Amino acid sequence: MIHYSLQCGRGHAFDGWFASSDAFETQRGDGDLGCPVCGTHDVSRALMAPAVRTRAANTPTTDGPPKKVPVEAEPAEAAATHAALPEGDRQAFLDAMRALRKAVVDNGTDVGTAFPEEARRIHYGEAEPRQIYGQAETEEARALIEEGIKVLPLPILPEDRN
Ligand SMILES: [Zn+2]
Repeated sequence: MIHYSLQCGRGHAFDGWFASSDAFETQRGDGDLGCPVCGTHDVSRALMAPAVRTRAANTPTTDGPPKKVPVEAEPAEAAATHAALPEGDRQAFLDAMRALRKAVVDNGTDVGTAFPEEARRIHYGEAEPRQIYGQAETEEARALIEEGIKVLPLPILPEDRN
């Protein structure tokens, strides 16, 4: 799958996922691509601004120590929230977590490791909107969130650790 930033003739920007660049051109040529905002089929790839590194930043100077190259900061890992509860409350908390997870499992479709791809297809209107659950690596989940696709980790329950 490849990701393209797209825009329509009226300037709306959106994202699309395609099996290949050929698949993108074919869909575009057939008029299968539409702007999600205004519906026009006048869709093209958005121009991307290249990330330019200035020469000065990479060239060590002969006098004095090399200049430090700015490093793009990693997004901070969200700290997991922990709760410390008295035993009675802990039981109620676990029951609530079980109920939450049961609701997801009962109402959703297990797509297994296809979860990241399927979540994208739903987000971009390529698959029927429905509740799904499945596995995603931390990196994959982060990528989804950065694309604006809302995913939530399901709580891990003590019985999962067996
Ligand atoms: Zn548009």
